[in-house]
Amino acid sequence: MKSAIQCAIRSSHLRFLDRGLPPRLAVYMHSLEREQYGPFRVFVEYMRSQDYDFVDLETFFACNGRKVIYLSFDDNYRAWFDALQLFSLLGVKATFYVNTNVIRDRTCASDIEAYYDRIDHHQERIPLSSEELKTLSSSGHAIGSHTHSHFLLTSLRTCEARSEISRGKQELEDILGQPVDHFSYPFGMRRHFSEELRHYCRDIGFKTIANAISAMQHSPQTPLHIQRSLWRLDQSLEHNLGNLRVDGALFAEITGRSALGE
Ligand SMILES: [Zn+2]
Repeated sequence: MKSAIQCAIRSSHLRFLDRGLPPRLAVYMHSLEREQYGPFRVFVEYMRSQDYDFVDLETFFACNGRKVIYLSFDDNYRAWFDALQLFSLLGVKATFYVNTNVIRDRTCASDIEAYYDRIDHHQERIPLSSEELKTLSSSGHAIGSHTHSHFLLTSLRTCEARSEISRGKQELEDILGQPVDHFSYPFGMRRHFSEELRHYCRDIGFKTIANAISAMQHSPQTPLHIQRSLWRLDQSLEHNLGNLRVDGALFAEITGRSALGE
């Protein structure tokens, strides 16, 4: 539940720091359950109506002057596999940043439960199998890493944090039989990651690193600092668009937190 202070910060940003939608948008979601297909379709159709093309990361960074949107999903949900037909119907390709400690055919039920408790997910608690992961990849979607276990990296010792990062990459590569170039770190705020870990990610071969600091769509987008905003399928189109339009960079710089409180 959002506090009154968070609501006041969000409203003042909407009032004074609404800069419209920038030409490059990077958005992320978590699961995509059947009852969310309607709001997902509304999201895609609205972006198309505003001339945004859904693109992969290469195109996202290559194009200038065109309106583009980079869509990604974090954690590990079989629901993504179930939605393949929807993605194909809408002509949308996404990147899935996956935790590897809950691959369904490799993990016991109690570890799967502990994982969904840790990420506070209370809808369908079924992760992807190795085969479903391979099918997502062979269907033209990109697979990125989200660490092995979804621990808060900055609460671990450096060697443990590094091992979480490298193990997640390695296990995905073993399943997919191809390099995994893209990384998003758990929880996504600046305080949840470090420059030391960013260097480590680059050293072990990640080409891009995505964060999840809301209200940063007006800040520069670079491969090692992809600024992603959460699109909440349980919130209205207007609410989500407001979150993309505001410039919360100064607030995040000063407080280390999101101007939107989410
Ligand atoms: Zn996550």
